[in-house]
Amino acid sequence: MEDCVFCKIVRGEIPCDMVYEDERFLVFNDIQPQAPVHMLLIPKKHVKSISAMTDEDIALVGQMVNIATRIAAAAGISAKGFRLVTNSGKEGGQIVPHLHWHILGGRQLSGELG
Ligand code: AMP
Repeated sequence: MEDCVFCKIVRGEIPCDMVYEDERFLVFNDIQPQAPVHMLLIPKKHVKSISAMTDEDIALVGQMVNIATRIAAAAGISAKGFRLVTNSGKEGGQIVPHLHWHILGGRQLSGELG
């Protein structure tokens, strides 16, 4: 069992402001939003980062991009534009070592996320 904050959210051990859930994925609002809309999409399976994905995860990552674009549309940020980003490793700005996509929108985003 992974001692990881997002795994704890998946297991229901810590709460989240949930937006979407299915058998494999969870979307919830970021606790420290950087934009009017800032959601996180995670796989329930613990994958450390996009760099840790294996050939086995190709479908999973494709499904994540598909879900993210649908969630963005449902949140009303698709027409004006939004950002889908995943940080990998320390210099990539990754703090939580569980693969996640940030879905950001609702304001004009600048060149860098951080
Ligand atoms: P990253 O820097 O890409 O690893 O992003 C981690 C994100 O997770 C940050 O934007 C945090 O605000 C967010 N975060 C951390 N803990 C929680 C939590 N318990 N619920 C919701 N968002 C969280």
